[in-house]
Amino acid sequence: MAESDGQEDSFRERLAHIRARMAAACARAKRGADEVELIAVTKTFGPEAVRDAWQAGIAQLGENRVQEAAAKIPTCVSGPEWHLIGHLQRNKVRPALELFTVLQAVDSERLLEQIARVADETGARPRVLLEINVSGEASKFGLTPEAAPAAIEHTLTLPSLTLEGLMTMAPFCPDQELTRPVFARLRDCRDRWERQFGIGLPRLSMGMSNDYEVAIEEGATWVRIGTALFGGRPRWQPARSSEDIEERTWVVE
Ligand SMILES: *Cc1c(COP(=O)(O)O)cnc(C)c1O
Repeated sequence: MAESDGQEDSFRERLAHIRARMAAACARAKRGADEVELIAVTKTFGPEAVRDAWQAGIAQLGENRVQEAAAKIPTCVSGPEWHLIGHLQRNKVRPALELFTVLQAVDSERLLEQIARVADETGARPRVLLEINVSGEASKFGLTPEAAPAAIEHTLTLPSLTLEGLMTMAPFCPDQELTRPVFARLRDCRDRWERQFGIGLPRLSMGMSNDYEVAIEEGATWVRIGTALFGGRPRWQPARSSEDIEERTWVVE
């Protein structure tokens, strides 16, 4: 896909706009601007989007599907750290560990076991976040807050995995204030489980294009931003739910 200089400029402009809003949200929450990192979500976009992000100083990139990432990442500039932000099937753990350094959406103990098994075999040392379904939406992936403590305990017995924190996906709401309680609840869970297990869970991955500012106000350390940075995704339709977003597929050109 050819890109004109005009589009390069608008990428820079969009990034500057996001960075300014992130800084303002940090200031409102009396947090340091360096406490929050932007993860650029490149799903459905090609290697030129990866290059734009990397050249603009974004070192953390996210993809939501192993298959798409396997087709894309080898064709991209090397250097970025890749985060798997979408649901991981157990039969895709092996390629996932070759592509990603952070697995953000770990959502079951069986998946944890499979990750540990492959990591032990290959010597990979994945960093993981547990995905928590805070809002209780039936269609969503993620551990319930009730099931999470057992999963945390389990993770702590798996030496090849480093548990860095928690991730959640809020229901899509045009009004980001409506998602604030979801983010606050994830932070409360984190604080409680840190005390309960005597561990640090420093990473809170929450907030996307439409709600990253409230997520930052509620304690996000990683915000995962796609469309606000790169523009509408190819074959874009207004998302009615997060599942809608996940179902969009990458077309290899
Ligand atoms: C697509 C996706 C994002 C980014 O969504 P935008 O609304 O485009 O910013 C963030 N997190 C996950 C898990 C995603 O699948």
